[in-house]
Amino acid sequence: MSKYWSKLAAGVDPYVPGEQPKDKKYIKLNTNENPYPPSPRVLEAIKTVANESLKLYPDPNGDELKRTLAEYFGLKKDRIFLGNGSDEVLAFSFMTFFDSGFPILFPDITYSFYPVYANLFKINYELIPLNDDFAIPVDQFFKPNGGIIIPNPNAPTGEYLTLEAIEEILLHNNEHVVIIDEAYIDFGGESARKLIDKYPNLLVVHTLSKSRSLAGLRVGFAMGHEDLIEGLNRVKNSFNSYTLDRLALAGAVEAIKDEAYFQVTSKKISQTRERVTQDLQIMGFKVLPSKANFIFISHPSVKAEELFLKLKEESILVRYFKKPRIDNFLRVSIGSDDEMDNFLKAICKIIA
Ligand code: PMP
Repeated sequence: MSKYWSKLAAGVDPYVPGEQPKDKKYIKLNTNENPYPPSPRVLEAIKTVANESLKLYPDPNGDELKRTLAEYFGLKKDRIFLGNGSDEVLAFSFMTFFDSGFPILFPDITYSFYPVYANLFKINYELIPLNDDFAIPVDQFFKPNGGIIIPNPNAPTGEYLTLEAIEEILLHNNEHVVIIDEAYIDFGGESARKLIDKYPNLLVVHTLSKSRSLAGLRVGFAMGHEDLIEGLNRVKNSFNSYTLDRLALAGAVEAIKDEAYFQVTSKKISQTRERVTQDLQIMGFKVLPSKANFIFISHPSVKAEELFLKLKEESILVRYFKKPRIDNFLRVSIGSDDEMDNFLKAICKIIA
């Protein structure tokens, strides 16, 4: 604590991201990154920009990327908002839409950035407890609220809500904004963006960090009615009118255009997830049903914290959350087949 800090800086409880240790080479299954590199077309586009135009400011509106996304998703360009990773899109969304008297609602076990933003922007919130099987209780989102945010699939559980369930939530909520955070939707889920025409209060948030292998480039975007997007732009332009740099804009365009590469890598990850799930179940693990690029697992006799530490000794990083109800689970990102074989071998040795 410093005497120079504002009350705001002193009062925040910042988010702690998953560890990225540098002491040795790890198999990294702890931050839900994609094990495959981005499309080669992304690297080509970035090299061209680096060689030719870094001295120039980027397009403040990111028009080419918005056009590319609009065409890809079959939306109008003014229904898209760009941000520096979906974390930033979410921060702007909290600022732009959530401030009414009623608390906003989100699941009690979910992406840990939501309470951080709510506290930073002084937004009341109410946690909706997950069911005993970790499913999201849809009817609990029908109560009066000042807005809703739900990740679909949820993190860190991987559990997925059908489009019908999301629509039921929307049918009970037309006063405030409903945000569906679809960071992990491309690994087997169905996107709610199809509902945007019907529900002007629906905001769907995506990222290129996961299914497009671009966590390092920091590109996220939101899709919603133009009124919502205009609000987001008003707030964003009060902070920084050049959200995305030239490298990110150029790389993101090619990542979206290379559909064939995206299809192959995202399907591969879903297949690996199913194989690893079966192998872990044979070893006695409980594995929650997942439509994400990670699984949430628990062993009946070996404690999750012990597994986490022993895997780390074997140079394998997974995510352990010391939180009530989930402190006997590990979240394991789906790596390449080789990485997952090493993980399974290590697990086998530890639980033997
Ligand atoms: N939403 C969820 C549910 C996440 O797990 C993450 C990744 N940690 C994000 C959003 C943010 O992703 P990014 O900022 O890399 O787009």
